[in-house]
Amino acid sequence: METTPDSTPPVNLNRRAFVGAAGLAGLGLLGASRAQAAPATSSSTTNSLLYTVPMNSAGEYELPPLPYAYDALEPAIDAETMRLHHDIHFNGYKNGLNKALAQLKQFRSAGDYPEISYWENELAFNGAGYNLHTVFFANMAPEGTTKPSSTLSKTLDTHFGGLDAFKGQFSAAAAKVQGSGWAILGYQPFGGKLVVLQAEKHQNLTQWGVIPILALDVWEHAYYLKYQNRRGDYIKNWWNVVNWDNVAQRTEAAMTA
Ligand code: FE
Repeated sequence: METTPDSTPPVNLNRRAFVGAAGLAGLGLLGASRAQAAPATSSSTTNSLLYTVPMNSAGEYELPPLPYAYDALEPAIDAETMRLHHDIHFNGYKNGLNKALAQLKQFRSAGDYPEISYWENELAFNGAGYNLHTVFFANMAPEGTTKPSSTLSKTLDTHFGGLDAFKGQFSAAAAKVQGSGWAILGYQPFGGKLVVLQAEKHQNLTQWGVIPILALDVWEHAYYLKYQNRRGDYIKNWWNVVNWDNVAQRTEAAMTA
């Protein structure tokens, strides 16, 4: 379950966010609408279309708490990897995103844009990193606690020819990412299709508008302590800790948004 830093209930869901809200509210996947949660007045959270992310009163992103214990995903993912990944790496992208936004705001105030390409790259890299890590950590749950619903299975059958076919393409994509990156199940709103994408770093090889639903981090920081160079073993074992309830709810939300 995703958690937020306080228990402030979401208010005034806009129509887009309200679709499917009954199924999402229990997992904290919806929050206040962006329009109604302007950074200057937001107490702690804001809506990012399909999931709630913590934000402070200054409009700066904060680190979403890990929704389970560090050791909850063992043996697939060990506690030390989870601790470093969430507390250090994820937090680093959060800091980088806030820094890029602050720097660009300063440029706008001055009407002068030195190193604009550098900071736009920082915004894309860290913003995509923050986004995907938010999805990634919410996508997992202790082994054996969830399984694909019949509705999700039917959807995957329609778009991929079955759960196994989907997992096969996703695993292959994850295994073959060049360098550091991701495999991502996403929804193309413009075509009404579910697709599997590879991302290099966090932001390369993406498609504009695709909504990430299920994301697998295959940067070495995600698995190297336990698996060393055996990325394939990490991918195989990661399927044991996928939170299928979360995947189903994100899929429904994306396809009805
Ligand atoms: Fe990562």
